[in-house]
Parts: sequence; C-alpha cells; structure tokens
Amino acid sequence: MRRFALLFALVACEGAPSGPAPTRVVPPPPDPEVVEAKPPAAAQEVDAPPIRKDGTIYAESELMGTRFSINLWVGADGDASAGGEAIHAAIAEVDRIEGLASEWIAQSELSRFSDGAGGPMMELSPDLFALLRRSRELAEASDGAFDPTFYAIGDLWKFEPGSRPPAPEEIEARLALIGWERIELDPESRRGRLQTPGMKVGLGAIAKGYAVDRAAKLLRDRGFADHIVEGGGDTYVSGSKGGQAWVVGIQRPDGPGTVGALPLRDRALVTSGGYQRFFEFDGKRYAHIIDPRTGWPLDEAESALSVSVVAADATDADAYCTAVAVMGPTRGMAFVEATPAVEAVIIDHSGEVRVSTGLREIFVTAPAGK
Ligand code: ADP
Ligand code: MG
Repeated sequence: MRRFALLFALVACEGAPSGPAPTRVVPPPPDPEVVEAKPPAAAQEVDAPPIRKDGTIYAESELMGTRFSINLWVGADGDASAGGEAIHAAIAEVDRIEGLASEWIAQSELSRFSDGAGGPMMELSPDLFALLRRSRELAEASDGAFDPTFYAIGDLWKFEPGSRPPAPEEIEARLALIGWERIELDPESRRGRLQTPGMKVGLGAIAKGYAVDRAAKLLRDRGFADHIVEGGGDTYVSGSKGGQAWVVGIQRPDGPGTVGALPLRDRALVTSGGYQRFFEFDGKRYAHIIDPRTGWPLDEAESALSVSVVAADATDADAYCTAVAVMGPTRGMAFVEATPAVEAVIIDHSGEVRVSTGLREIFVTAPAGK
C-alpha cells in the first residue's frame, strides 16, 4: 500500500505544487488559516478535523499526479470525527485506484494487462474490468475520439518542458496498434486481453474520473451524501450544502478567475485544457491530448482552449471531455447537442465561451474581470 499525505484545512491551499485546479468551488471560504497539517495515520487515529463556518470539512491530497480535494458538508453540529474518517477512507480509495489503473506504475494491474498483449485472456479485478468495459463503450460512443489504446503511441510522447516529438516513422509504425475494438472482454469470466502484441492501454482520460466516482460513492455509503470530490479538474457534486446548491466554477484558460459557474447536484463536471501539460519545440506547441487517428497531438490552431463536460458521473464526463477536445469546438459541440447524456461548456480558440443548450438556463457568466 502506497502512502499519501492528507491535509485538513480551512481553505483550499492555492499554493500547492500542482497549481490551481481547473474547477473550484465558488465562492471560496474566507478564513485563510490552515489549522492542521500532518502526515496520515491509520483511519481510526485521524483527529476530528475542523468544521468551517459553512458547515463543511475540507481536505486535500496529492494523488494521480494532481491534487484531489474533498469538501464535505456535515453541518455546524455534525460529526467531524466520522466525517474526517470518511474523507480519509475516500482518499485511500483514490490511492488504491491509482495503484491498479495507472499506466505509469510498471507493476500496476493495467501495466501487466498491456504487457500481456497478444497473449491469453487474463483474469481482471472488478475495478479494472469495469474501467476497461466502460472505456470500450465510451470509445464506441465517441466514434474512437476517446480511445484508451491510443497509448501504444501515447507512450512515445513526453509532455514536459524540454521534450521533443518522437520520430514520425516511429508514430507511423505504431498506428496500427490503436483500435479499441481489439480490447477483448468477457464479463462472464471477468477476463480480458489486448488482441495484438504491442498494444497498450492508457487510462489517463478516465481513471481520474473513476477514482472521483469511487470516492464519492464511499462518502455516500458512509452516510455523507452532501459533498464535492475534485481531482485535477474532475468534479463530482453530490447533494447540496445544507440545502443550498453547490456551485462549481469553470476556470479561465488564460489565468486566474472563472468564466462562469454552474449550480449542480448529483452530477459531474470535468474540465480539461491543453494549456495544462505541453511542451514547445521548433516554435510549435504540443499538448497532451492525442488524435487516435493520427498519433499526433491536436492541432493547436483548431483546438479548444478548454472543454468542460457535464454528465451523470465523473467517469463518463472525463472520457467525453477528452473526446470532445479531440473533435474540436465545432464538431465537439455538435456531438454534445446530439448526445442527451452529455452537456458542455467549450471555450474555443478565439476565447468565445460556447454553452450547450441543456446548460444555458443554469450557466452563470462571471462578471468581467473576476
Ligand atoms: P486531464 O489530465 O487534464 O484530466 P484529460 O482528461 O483530457 O486531461 O486527459 C488527457 C490524458 O488522456 C492524456 O494525458 C493521456 O493520458 C490521455 N489521452 C490523450 N489522448 C487520448 C485519447 N485520444 N483517448 C484517450 N485518452 C487519451
Ligand atoms: Mg480528465
């Protein structure tokens, strides 16, 4: 079991290493004082965290290469100790999902699944099976714009400052390894395999959403139905804040502040923007979403500055968000309008904010300069 540090605080720590997350709860609570910051202990040893003026407990932790936060409403006289333990368990659940579904951990179940490509069917854990099955369905629903088998080529790319693109021949040579149809799954025996040797699965566009959903479910199962779980731009909003709707802001792609906000209940909002992870080479910018048809990152001039998707859960919203980004603002919005389960706010390259029909009534545009 890997370890994680859990920080209970009165406000979100804006200075945390991964930078501000793309979505945040608005307005932020006023008191900047951090009251408790200590390494984790066993669940039963967690001290009762502070309850803030608005009746919530806030905690955050660095996981899955980003920052996860939980905002749990317990009420002014709520059981802070039980709330703190539930938060600890929810964060431990995220840690567990990362350990099995990360393609960046060599010994993860997902890495072993990819290593077995071309071989016999492998028995899979219920979580990885569920993730692969939903990935396959979402790949089909998005006509392959979201495709977890992109990773045969994704693995060649490193999106850090100072990186350079792989050789075009290398990309070309691996293009035939991409194809979600060749993820073979048998629900009866809970087994699966990748049909072609060399195929690889990357769940970077869905595992975070799944982890958010699992954490939210765990909180609900423990009797805490009112909360927001957020991980690096993937948000699930459950219940309300003591009867008052939770309001989630959509960050400006070009700086601090929000373009607007959405009141949400029992739904997910996932934001993704190419501005977060990229490198520049020869005057061209390469960002981390890859078009599975070409093996190359999206063309910056044609892609959205940011895509926010609303769906029933964060697993779906996460994958749809990447799919819509791959489609680009115009085709992406047409897809959203044709898909009843998905709504979106797309900021196109000119900075225009496009809101899908199903969100127009509730989207609140931020005042200019905010
Ligand atoms: P974020 O990491 O900001 O949440 P996304 O949810 O858009 O961003 O996911 C981007 C990640 O998804 C990439 O870093 C990569 O791991 C993976 N990915 C990139 N392109 C695709 C694609 N076409 N289909 C599926 N996954 C992809
Ligand atoms: Mg995402």
